[in-house]
Amino acid sequence: MTEETRNVEEMSIWEDAHQMLRKAERDGIETAWDRLEQQTPHCKFGESGVCCRICTMGPCRISKKAPLGVCGADADVIVARNFGRFLAGGAAGHSDHGLTASKHFMRLPMARPRIITLKTKRRCCA
Ligand code: SF4
Repeated sequence: MTEETRNVEEMSIWEDAHQMLRKAERDGIETAWDRLEQQTPHCKFGESGVCCRICTMGPCRISKKAPLGVCGADADVIVARNFGRFLAGGAAGHSDHGLTASKHFMRLPMARPRIITLKTKRRCCA
C-alpha cells in the first residue's frame, strides 16, 4: 500500500470502484493496484514477450546480443508461442462460461425437440 493518497479516478471509470478503492486504502487492504505498483517497472523482456520459459534449457531472453534461444527460436517464434499459450490458457480458464452458455442454450425451447429426437432414436436402435 502506498503512503500517499492515490487518485482513484485514474484507476477506474466507475464510481462504485472508486468507493471500494478508497475503503480498501482506509482499511489497509492490499489491492491489485498496490501489487501492480510493487511489480513496476516490469521486466522489459517479459513485457515485450521475448522471454521464453517453455523448456528447461531456458529461460531464454532475446536481445541483439542473443537473437536466438538455445533451441533456435527467434523473437517472432517466441512471441507467437507465448501469445498462443496465453490464448489457450485464457480460454481454458474461462471454459466454464462456455459450458454455462451451452447449458442455457440447451434449455431453449427450440433445442428440446432435437434432444428428444436423438434420445428416442438411441433407444430404438439399442
Ligand atoms: S527459447 Fe527454446 S530453448 Fe529457450 S526456453 Fe524457449 S523452448 Fe527452451
